[in-house]
Amino acid sequence: MEQINSPSFLLQRALLPSEDFGLYVASHALDLSLGRTLPVPNAKSHSARPGFAHVSGLQWYSQNIRDLPNVDELMLGHTRYPLFAQFLSEFEKDTLRSHHSSCPVPGITGILGLANSPRTRMSTCHACIRSDIKAQGYAIWRREHLVPAAYVCATHQEPLMTFCDLCEAGHRRMRSNWRLSTKCICGVHSMKPILKTDSIGMELGIRLATMVEKVLIQEVPPSLSSDSITKILVHTFGVQRSRSNTSAQRLLEALRDKCGRDMTDYLGIKKETALRLVGLPTGHGAVRNPMHNLAALYVVSDAMEGFEEKLALATESEAYRFMSENEQSVIANPRKRKKRLSGDDRPETTGPDLKLV
Ligand SMILES: [Zn+2]
Ligand SMILES: [Zn+2]
Repeated sequence: MEQINSPSFLLQRALLPSEDFGLYVASHALDLSLGRTLPVPNAKSHSARPGFAHVSGLQWYSQNIRDLPNVDELMLGHTRYPLFAQFLSEFEKDTLRSHHSSCPVPGITGILGLANSPRTRMSTCHACIRSDIKAQGYAIWRREHLVPAAYVCATHQEPLMTFCDLCEAGHRRMRSNWRLSTKCICGVHSMKPILKTDSIGMELGIRLATMVEKVLIQEVPPSLSSDSITKILVHTFGVQRSRSNTSAQRLLEALRDKCGRDMTDYLGIKKETALRLVGLPTGHGAVRNPMHNLAALYVVSDAMEGFEEKLALATESEAYRFMSENEQSVIANPRKRKKRLSGDDRPETTGPDLKLV
């Protein structure tokens, strides 16, 4: 990528805390016609416009635009990297870091586990806009509102809004849509909520948004990961000991029960997701989608408080379970095996209804 050492560019206004970097750059690129004069590294050639869903080229911006923080600070403070990274393997995290800091990695949406997720929308909260305008005279796009499938502002507990149907369909071709206002850019229609839902859906949206914010600012237990959530789910919904999908089925039913079937469908949680969440082999590995992991966590615990205690319990029972299985495997005598399994020391971790086979 071409490096420009001098002169460096100075953008009109400072980057604010939690402001989404992709849309910060996009709004400047259009305001200042930089799309033509600034060789924006992640601009798509047909529109010379930077992508906003998963921004790339942070290294270039950091080096060439005055007063911007370094790449790591941009990534941790102004993209959704911390949220995705929490549920990725080390290799996947490296891939995402590389995507953000330099050139776009093809298929990044799939790597982040977003294949079944609602797409990233240009979402905003009207109460946030009003408080922004009061505070600094203009509003910013917040990264926590741009999380795929997010539909509520955690701060104001209000639905997130986007452009009217007409404008949203055409927003990629418009040049004025990066500027934030409570009015739709057409000036004719009202903005619309990302999702219309009932009180159960709002409650879920608030909880998810609150957890998302905590993960973004890293106020979460360091042990939070898709593996640790799986451990807690196995402890709660039982160990899979047969080819039937009992524990996954229980989890899916619990999700539909607590979140509503329509919301489970909206989030893109399917039977296969439930199988992966309880650690069963599907060929697709652990669940990487942050909203799927957090919704599963919401089912077993309303918030993140008590996560470490739950994980400690789950880890303890897993250790016990493995010990029991080893013991069972060396017991060749079927009569002894039968006696042991019917005894009082049967592991509780199999769940109350699950039959051992
Ligand atoms: Zn808000
Ligand atoms: Zn409109």
